[in-house]
Amino acid sequence: MDKYSWSVRELINAPLWSTLYYRTKEGKIRPTWRFWRWLSVIIINVAFFLSYHIDIQFLEGTLTGSRLLGFHLIDPFAALEILAAEHEVHTNIIIGVSTIVGFYFLVGGKAFCGWVCPYGLLSEIGEYFHQKLVSKHIIKEHKFNPKVRYIFWAIFLAAAAIDGYMVFEVINPVGILSRFIVYGWSLAIVWVLVILLIEIFYSRRAWCKYVCPIGTTYAFIGWVSPMKVQWDMDKCDHCAACFIACPEEHVLERFKAKYDEERKEKGITKEFVKDGDCIMCARCFDVCHEDAYNFEFRLKNLV
Ligand code: SF4
Ligand code: SF4
Repeated sequence: MDKYSWSVRELINAPLWSTLYYRTKEGKIRPTWRFWRWLSVIIINVAFFLSYHIDIQFLEGTLTGSRLLGFHLIDPFAALEILAAEHEVHTNIIIGVSTIVGFYFLVGGKAFCGWVCPYGLLSEIGEYFHQKLVSKHIIKEHKFNPKVRYIFWAIFLAAAAIDGYMVFEVINPVGILSRFIVYGWSLAIVWVLVILLIEIFYSRRAWCKYVCPIGTTYAFIGWVSPMKVQWDMDKCDHCAACFIACPEEHVLERFKAKYDEERKEKGITKEFVKDGDCIMCARCFDVCHEDAYNFEFRLKNLV
């Protein structure tokens, strides 16, 4: 897709494969950020598969708990569930969760969702079809308050504390998909398909936006992470493409034209996406024909 000459309508109607590359102003073909992200998700999950099936012991386990070259890695929400259910913290969990939290602090909290999570990739493909159906007026978009995710986050942790069991893991599509990739078929995969169908036909990326406590836990890290998406008002012509492409569009609220006067009064031309819900997917980079977005690593002035 030629991102320098598309219309917003073309953006939605472009074939899915054509969103994996773009033409530069000089006419050269380059991979989009989406291409690199999808490649990252595939490589990481294939590494899990190969480590189990040909016993290369590189990345063993699943995305809930794994070992990278023997070093423990634990999903932070799973660690919280274990803490709530068992009321004790094992050394391996402390090592595994500290490593993951440290890593995502540096690269941007919810980068997990955009660059690692296999359900995130499925959901992104589902989102493509959902937006097409909405644009053709075949279905309606159903939006909810994204803050509802905090309620689900608390409910799932409370359930672990009350039951003494990691209740969320029974319905966790990330864990189900990760086990499916590594160990093969199980009936639980039907549940993942049900969620995906809800996202395609009812509400855009509903699981990730409103429910998933794994993503919510990474969002907490994202709020304080020094890695941010930066937007440049001087380049932006407010075409709104990024609002259409962003899976968490509420994080871009501050970049609307109505805030331009306020920015000018303050003498600010660049702003960060401060909201931890940003999944660092760079879809806004991919669709911006003015190249108004970039990543910035900032330790000062984050709040
Ligand atoms: S919100 Fe949950 S399911 Fe969605 S991409 Fe993030 S971890 Fe995966
Ligand atoms: S602001 Fe950009 S990087 Fe962040 S979630 Fe939205 S599209 Fe992705």
